[in-house]
Amino acid sequence: MLGSMMMRPLNVADILTFAADTHPTGEIVSVRTEGDLHRYTYADSARRVAQLAHGLKAQGANPGDRIATLAWNGYRHFELYYAIAGIGSVCHTINPRLSAEQMTYIVTHAEDTMLFVDLTFVPIVAALRDHWPKGLKVVVMTDRAHMPDGDYLCYEELLDGHPESYDWPELPEETAVGLCYTSGTTGNPKGTLYTHRSTVLHAMMVGLSLPSALQPGKKILPVVPLFHVNAWGLPYAAPLTGASLIFPGGALDGESIFRLMDNEEVFSAWGVPTVWLGLQGEIANQGRLPTGFGDMVVGGSAAPASMIRDFEERGVNVCHAWGMTEMSPVGTQGNLPAHLADVSMDKKIEIKSKQGRRIFGVDLKIVDEDGTRLPHDGEAAGELYVRGNAITSGYFKNDEANATAFDAEGWFGTGDVATIDGDGYLTITDRAKDLIKSGGEWISSLDLENTVMAHPRVANCAVIAVPHPKWDERPLLIVVPSPEGKPEVSELMALLEEHFAKWQLPDDVVFEDELPLTATGKVSKLTLRKKYMDHVLPASG
Ligand code: AMP
Repeated sequence: MLGSMMMRPLNVADILTFAADTHPTGEIVSVRTEGDLHRYTYADSARRVAQLAHGLKAQGANPGDRIATLAWNGYRHFELYYAIAGIGSVCHTINPRLSAEQMTYIVTHAEDTMLFVDLTFVPIVAALRDHWPKGLKVVVMTDRAHMPDGDYLCYEELLDGHPESYDWPELPEETAVGLCYTSGTTGNPKGTLYTHRSTVLHAMMVGLSLPSALQPGKKILPVVPLFHVNAWGLPYAAPLTGASLIFPGGALDGESIFRLMDNEEVFSAWGVPTVWLGLQGEIANQGRLPTGFGDMVVGGSAAPASMIRDFEERGVNVCHAWGMTEMSPVGTQGNLPAHLADVSMDKKIEIKSKQGRRIFGVDLKIVDEDGTRLPHDGEAAGELYVRGNAITSGYFKNDEANATAFDAEGWFGTGDVATIDGDGYLTITDRAKDLIKSGGEWISSLDLENTVMAHPRVANCAVIAVPHPKWDERPLLIVVPSPEGKPEVSELMALLEEHFAKWQLPDDVVFEDELPLTATGKVSKLTLRKKYMDHVLPASG
């Protein structure tokens, strides 16, 4: 027997409408690429989002169109999230740190019709535009006074003169709302296509699970980017709960972050460990915390225990979270539950160094190589699979990847290896996927290896992650020379530079006579990682 309640579809536009009605004075403060600070309220934002939606329609935007962004965290990027979603188009956020090749693949694969770009990234567009689909309209996210020369539309002119309200269509909740590509282990990045339903549910899940900062009047600094992983859902969860958003733009060094937090009295800051390392340095310089700072969320890579301890001992509540692009992205959060609230500082750090417990709407299982479930005893480690209300059911236009992404029960394979303990705490112990995560960004070992293998004097090679104090991990290239002799390191680097962004290049190259193999004849990365665990890399940025 079916119940008889209204079936109102979950739509993203309702979040901002709600914020404008209920939290009209909640603020969005942004460091602008023009160099100044911009501030307005959710009510102001809703009016400009309506104008932008009219502007998009006037440019011919249709439901289902992929409309891309290449931008820092700022109010115009936030407006694009909502205006594009509201008219039934798809907001495709592009990570500006990707290589030219990856970016061109993504724009072409997504079949973007428009691209909104921050002033900082105009040179990227100018360099690559000839390789992108003809007819792609490019809008620079600034006003007329700051417009660069070239065939670009001006963001502020797109809004000018349009009504400050919009009759948002009631879209089926399965309508696509956002698209985010993440690097794959092999070759091309893979796109996760979010729905209105998954996005609204995820915002509610995050609001429920991380309540310390997501409250009216609290100020949150998302250093985690709008251009990747939906800034961990904050552009939706903050307006939903009435928390204010302080956007840092492109100024992400410790000093700039400290100054912004101090001036704005930010309560909670969210980002990857590398960013907090910079902030830690500035806190040590100044001998104090930024005014009002009391809470942080760290994830994207494992947060070191020493970092968690440093912030906790200074009185900042640290929440270690884990998730993935494919999960919208939040999967777990590490705030202490009531029954563990009174543990000693040492025990607290031990617990908080784990990746946290699942949030509502996310189920976790760990399995052995045969797919048999392993116990949640904190001992058994296996590959981590997930299912839930805001988790991908298949990559965008990618049958090949989808054929292996899910197990027989329909759970999504994360590529992480983990244990889960009796309290439900997840600990990521290893990575089954062959990737390196540097400063929160992926580098594909396999892609680097395939490129290096093209050198005539390379018989075999492997790229592995070596622990790094600042970037978490950095790539090390291990080369087996061919009988003709060793290739020059400069030649290998020149080969790689043709295809990869500078920060994706290996920090060091070592030579071996042969590579260790696994029982199945594959290169044993595990053996190599153990051997080179303490390898000292030359200084890297
Ligand atoms: P992305 O889709 O770029 O957010 O990357 C997701 C992946 O980042 C996960 O599958 C993990 O491998 C890694 N990751 C995210 N958060 C953490 C964390 N707290 N600790 C360890 N690894 C993490």
